[in-house]
Parts: sequence; structure tokens; C-alpha cells
Amino acid sequence: MKPNFARLDQKFVWHPFTQMKDWLQQEPIVLASGRGAVLKDVQGRAYLDANSSIWTNLHGHNHPHLNRALRQQLKRVAHTSALGFANPPASLLAAQLALLTRSGKAVGPELVRSFFSDDGSTALEVALKLAYEFTRRTRGARPAPRFLSLEGAYHGDTIGAVSLGHSPLFHRSFSGLLFKSDSVMAPYCYRCPFNRASPERADARTYRSCHWECVGQMEAKLETARRQKRPYSAFAFEPRIQGAAGMIPQPEGWLARTSALAREHGALLIADEVMTGFGRTGGNTLFAALEEGVRPDLLCLAKGLAGGYLPLAVTLTSPTIFDAFLGEYAEFKTFFHGHSFTANPLAAATALASLELLTPREARWERKRLERQLASELTHLWSLPSVGDIRQVGLVVGVELVRDWTTREPFALAERAGIRVCEAMAKRGVLTRPIGNVVVLMPPYCTTPSQLTRIVRSLHDAVVETLGSPRLSN
Ligand code: PMP
Repeated sequence: MKPNFARLDQKFVWHPFTQMKDWLQQEPIVLASGRGAVLKDVQGRAYLDANSSIWTNLHGHNHPHLNRALRQQLKRVAHTSALGFANPPASLLAAQLALLTRSGKAVGPELVRSFFSDDGSTALEVALKLAYEFTRRTRGARPAPRFLSLEGAYHGDTIGAVSLGHSPLFHRSFSGLLFKSDSVMAPYCYRCPFNRASPERADARTYRSCHWECVGQMEAKLETARRQKRPYSAFAFEPRIQGAAGMIPQPEGWLARTSALAREHGALLIADEVMTGFGRTGGNTLFAALEEGVRPDLLCLAKGLAGGYLPLAVTLTSPTIFDAFLGEYAEFKTFFHGHSFTANPLAAATALASLELLTPREARWERKRLERQLASELTHLWSLPSVGDIRQVGLVVGVELVRDWTTREPFALAERAGIRVCEAMAKRGVLTRPIGNVVVLMPPYCTTPSQLTRIVRSLHDAVVETLGSPRLSN
């Protein structure tokens, strides 16, 4: 007899970011297999993976090219340690990443060194430690290095990454464990306090009153730090769109302006492309910061690095940062950081195969086609009164649900509007996970046109069913 996996899970597993009381009250979906954009549960029911398995999967599940690369590496060796030894796939991957981040007309240093780790949080942890130590070595230990990041920021769950975060819901309870970092206004245009334009239609998102007040606030913050002689070591940000903060896009030009200001004030740039990397946000390069003309000093990648198959992360750094850690052994300038599975060969081999699928011109066209279709399908959602905002950057979408689109009044989090809509989507065979009241769509690149239509239609129907909204007559 087959084990009852759902019951085993409910008895023995503790799920991340999950209220387990709710989890224990309904039978979980137990996913057992997948192909392309489709996942199947143990009963054989099929679902579309509309958020790429929490933003990781790029090319679909069970991809023959990635499977082959993984199997070939498995025949050689599954794991060797990067503490003391090199391995072929990780060496090749580091060289490829240096090459890929060179493309584009971005301003900033070359990113020639890859420090591998395991996931997004550790990639940020590495960036933080490098920036901290680099500052101490180049500016001296006093004043202590300080960090600046965006309101609502989420950079992972380890203590350093949480310290960089500013999400009250996720981070409040750990405040006693954290070091202090400063936050600066993020360009959340839909809820911008300076945006006085009141919408007349659900899709009327006019920000004509914008005078880059958010950039002004950043400038003021940096000036204060300069006056107090306590400059920031680094400014950490997600480029083009903040993910877990609620899928909040930045207006074109915001990143170039704020990055230039941060650099003028001596701060390093830490780009967290854990979510945005590898073509997710569209454009010609694979990275959102490069697309905006900014090459950071530290670039953090994870999630899609190994195509969404295996945990693998990297923090790419400039020669200047790398050089600050060079010295005689007895100077102890070594970067004292590393994980047991750093530069794991199975993950690195899969990542190389994933890059082979990502980089051809045809693949870029295909992503563009998907992006255009998504934009066109999403227009159908504007007719729903509980859809307040639809935000799309490339293949990343956030649909913000509101109680009243005319006033933009949000649902209280306790009402679980986003969760209920996603549950109704699951009943329709489409899986995703909300961020509060924002429903996320982030389909894998192999999603077919008809699958994409089904994803958006299921969101539409789920909103109607859950929030009881009649259609507006336009
Ligand atoms: N940075 C960003 C922007 C993320 O979205 C996430 C995860 N959602 C992380 C860091 C942390 O990554 P991980 O969950 O792999 O530790």
C-alpha cells in the first residue's frame, strides 16, 4: 500500500512562512511529478505552475537538457568540497557569469569573481560581510559600517539578510536579534504619498505629479549621513522590481539616479537579483540592473541560477573588493566564510546547461513573445473592481487586490484575500502564492500560449468567485 503522504506531511513537516494551524485543517496538495509548466499531484491531478515553484524554475520541470547535464555530472561525482579544491563545472560557471555580466552598457566595475553559496539568503549574507569587511579595510573600523536598503525590502531569512530587510510583518518579531540598517523610501507609485492623481478608471495610473520625490528623500538621507560623517558602506536593492515587498516596479531611471547618488556618497551597490535575475524582468541582458545601465559592486544570484533544479547561489564581486582580501597568509585577510556545499558540482553543471538554454537569441524572442501575450491577457483583469493595480515587469506580475479600487482601500491582511484567491485558482488547476493582497504570476519560460491564457483566466474567475465582484460596465 502507498503511504499517505498528505497525512505524513501533516504529522511530521513544518512548512515555511505557513500558519500550521491552517495547514493542518485541510488536505495539502502533494506534488509528485512535473513536465514543462505542469505539475502533477499524487492523485494524478495536473496543475499549471504559475509562480515557477516560488520563482525558481526557468525552463519548466523535467527538462531533457537539464536532466542530461545532471545525469552526466552524477556519473562523475555528486559533490566535492570547494574548501581546498576546484571542480570543473563551478570553474566554467564562474567564467560564464563573468562574461554574461560584462554585456550591456552598464556603469560599474567588472564582476569577475564568483563566491558560491547555497541560496538567496546566503548570497546576501556574503555580500553584506564582504561590504562590511571591505569598508573596514579601506576606511577604517570607525565609524562602524552602515547599510541602506529600501522600505519593504526583503533579502532573505538569515540574520544578516533579515537585518537588511524592512518588512514589518516578516521581520518585526526578530528585531532583538538584528543589527540596525536604515531604510529609504521605495518608489511604490500606486501608493505614493506624493501621487495626488485620483483614478477615474481602474487602469488610470497617471503619475503626472511625480517629481522624483523618492529620489529626493534618498539624496537627503545620504547628505545627512555625509554631514554626520557616518557614510553608508553599501546600498542594497532589488533592481527594476521589489519582489516579496509586493511586486513593486521602479519607474524607468529610478535605479540609475539612486545608484549614481549612492556611489557619489561612497556607498557600494549590492544588487539582489535573486528574484529578478536570468531574464525574468525582460530586456536584452539577463540581469535587471544591467538593463537599467547599472553594474553593481556586488551581485547576488540564486533561485534560477541552476534553472530552479537545485539550491545554488553566487555573489559576484569586483576586482577592487577581491583585492582587499589578498595578503600574506599571516595577515589573515582571508574571507572567513563558506558552506559545506559551496560550488556543488551537480548544481553548477545544471546551471551551465540552464545558461545554454537562456542565452540564444531565439530564447530571448520567446520570452518577449510570452511577455507581450501576458500584457495583453492581463488587460482583462482591469474590469474587476477588486483589482486595484496590475504591475508587470517582463515576466513578473503582481496583481494588487483592494476593497475599493476608487479609493485604493486595501483589504485587511487578516481577511486573507490573496490566499483565498490563490486557493480558488488551485481548484481551477493553477498554482501560485500571494504576497499579502498581491497575487503573483511568474510563469516558467516554457509556458505555452494556451497555458498562459488559462493562468490569467483562472485568476480572473478566482477573483470573481472569492471577492464576489460583479463586472464594471466601462
Ligand atoms: N532575495 C530576494 C529578492 C528574494 O526574493 C529571496 C527569496 N524569495 C531571497 C533573497 C532569499 O532567497 P532564499 O529563499 O533562496 O534564501
